[in-house]
Amino acid sequence: MKKKIGTSLVVGTGISGIRSALDMAEQGYQVTLIDRAPNLGGILTQLDYQFPTDHCGMCKMLPLVERDASSQYCLRKGLFHENIDIMLSTELVAQEGEPGKYQVTLRQKPTMVDPERCIGCGECSRVCPVEVPDEFNAGLTMRKAVYLPVPHNIPNTYVVDVVSCTLCGECEKICPTKAIDLGTEARREFRILVVDDELVVRDSLKEWLEDEGFQVDMAESGMEALEKVTKDVYHMMLLDIKMPGMDGVEVLKRSKDIRPELSVVMMTAYATVETAVEAMKIGALEYLMKPFDPDTLVPLIVQLYQKIERAGERQLEVGSVIFAAGFESYDPATGKNTYGYGVLPNVVTS
Ligand code: SF4
Ligand code: SF4
Repeated sequence: MKKKIGTSLVVGTGISGIRSALDMAEQGYQVTLIDRAPNLGGILTQLDYQFPTDHCGMCKMLPLVERDASSQYCLRKGLFHENIDIMLSTELVAQEGEPGKYQVTLRQKPTMVDPERCIGCGECSRVCPVEVPDEFNAGLTMRKAVYLPVPHNIPNTYVVDVVSCTLCGECEKICPTKAIDLGTEARREFRILVVDDELVVRDSLKEWLEDEGFQVDMAESGMEALEKVTKDVYHMMLLDIKMPGMDGVEVLKRSKDIRPELSVVMMTAYATVETAVEAMKIGALEYLMKPFDPDTLVPLIVQLYQKIERAGERQLEVGSVIFAAGFESYDPATGKNTYGYGVLPNVVTS
C-alpha cells in the first residue's frame, strides 16, 4: 500500500470528479469521492458510446498521456482504487476551515436497498405499481419508483425513490435476497403532532400522514400543544402560526424550552411568511405554505422525516475540497462558478 500524504474530498463523480480522484489517489492522497446521485458517472452516463468511434467516453477522455494507457485510468479501476472511498446519494452540507484543514459534513440519503445484497435481478421494478418520468431519459420515458438509475449502472444496484414510493410493500415482498427495507416499522414509531385551530386542516393532515404510516396526534390550540409536548414524546410538530390565543411562534419557543430536540415545521399562509422565516431563525426546521395539496405536502413531510430520522451525517477532516459537480457548480449563462450545494468554499472548482 502506498504511503498516504494527505486527504481530499472530491464532489461529483462525473468524468472530472473521477479524473481528479484518480490523480489525487495516484499521488498518495486518501480521497473521499461523493455524488448526490445514486450512481456514478455524472452526465456522461447519458452520453456514452460517442460519435464517431463508439468508444466509451471514459476511456476516450480519462487518459493522461496516450490512448494505449487508457485502461489504467478506467472508471472501473477508479472504483477499486485502494485510496478512494466512494459515497453515493451523498451531499456536502457544511464546510468549515481553510485550505489544508477543512471540517466537512456529509449527509447520505437512504436508498432503502442494501447494495451488498442487491443482485440486480429487477423483480422489484417489475412489480412496482408507481411510474414517474425517468430523469435518465430527460423525462421522455417512464421509470418505476424502485429503479436502476442508469441502465449500465455501476454498481448494478437498484434504489427506491422515496419521494414517489407509496410504500405499498410489493418490492419488499418479492425481493429474493431481502435487499429492500422500506422502514415501515420505523415510521410507525415516528410521532407527529399537528397543531392548528382549523378542524379541516387537522383532519386532512392526520389522514394523509397516517396513510404514509406515521403516528399522528392533534391539538387545536397552543396551550393544548404544550400540554401534549410536556406529557408525551413527539418527533415532529406541524405548527400553525396564526392561531387565537397563543400564536405559533410563542408555542415554538416554549416547546423548544421543554424539548429542544423536537423538530418543528411551521405552517403559514402567504400573509405570515415573514414570520415563518423569523421562526426558522429561532429553531424551526422548515415552513410550509397553505393551502395544502397532498401531492406536494406529503412528499415534503416524508423528505423531512428522512432528513431527521434516516439520513446519516458524517464529519470528515480533509486537506482539500475539489468541486467537480459540473453544472451544479457552474452557471453557463453567466460563466461564473456558483459553488453549488449552498456553501462558499475557498477551494478548487473544476
Ligand atoms: S428484487 Fe432485490 S435483488 Fe432484485 S433488483 Fe430489486 S432489490 Fe435488487
Ligand atoms: S414500496 Fe414503493 S418502490 Fe416498492 S413497489 Fe411499492 S411503490 Fe414501488
